This record gives sequence, C-alpha cells and structure tokens, in this order.
Amino acid sequence: MNNQLSMKLAETVKEAKKSLLFPPIYEDAYGEGDECYDEGTFFQRQGKGLLCGKMVFYSGEFYDLTIDGDVDLCMEVFLTDEGELVKFYTIRESRYCQVCQETHSRLHRMVAKDQYLDDDEIDAIINNISVDLKTAG
Ligand SMILES: [Zn+2]
Repeated sequence: MNNQLSMKLAETVKEAKKSLLFPPIYEDAYGEGDECYDEGTFFQRQGKGLLCGKMVFYSGEFYDLTIDGDVDLCMEVFLTDEGELVKFYTIRESRYCQVCQETHSRLHRMVAKDQYLDDDEIDAIINNISVDLKTAG
C-alpha cells in the first residue's frame, strides 16, 4: 500500500470508529426468508468477547443454483470496532423447504488465511466507509 493511501485509510478508519455502529459478526447464522439471519453464533475475540465489525467490502466469487435454491461464495472485508480490516470468505445457501413452505437461509463465514488487500480494494473500502459516514452523519 502506498503512503498516501495508507494515510487516507487511517484517517477514514479514525472517523468510522467515532461514528459507525459495529455489531457482532456472525460465524454461523440461520434464518427464514432470503438473506435474513436471526440466530447463530458470533466470532469470539480471544479473551475479549465478541468480534464486532461492519462490512466495508464485498466481492462475489461464485454463484449458482441448487436443486431447490442457490449457493454463493463471496469475499468480505469487515472493519472491526478496533479499527482493523479483516478479510473473510463467506458461503450463503438458501433453499425452499417443502415442509415449512418457506425459504431457509444459512451462512458460514471463515477468516481468510491470506489477509492481503490490493490498492484497488483498499481504495474501494475507503470509498464505502466514506459513503457510510455520510449517511451516518
Ligand atoms: Zn423447513
């Protein structure tokens, strides 16, 4: 990351920590309906409670249909309440259930081994946070 970009990021993150909300991040989640998650388990920070953050970047990697729904894998970056960027891979699955006659959704999020973000991604993250700051302010 070049100097100018990392300074801009640090400044934006500082503002975000003051103004944005950082809910706990689901590791596994379930719900009824599409993209609706209301129960599950959250990531734990070692000895420090729940890992909280806000999604600041999203990139679809894979999407396809299954026999009764769809599945999608994406890369996500969260800004944590401690000002760190954490990269995840997230699988979402939804399927129509004949028994309940509604859609069940399931999500599983994994911390990426390679936390590298390129300059274009950092640039997009700065933009996304700036938009959030405008709506929050
Ligand atoms: Zn069901």
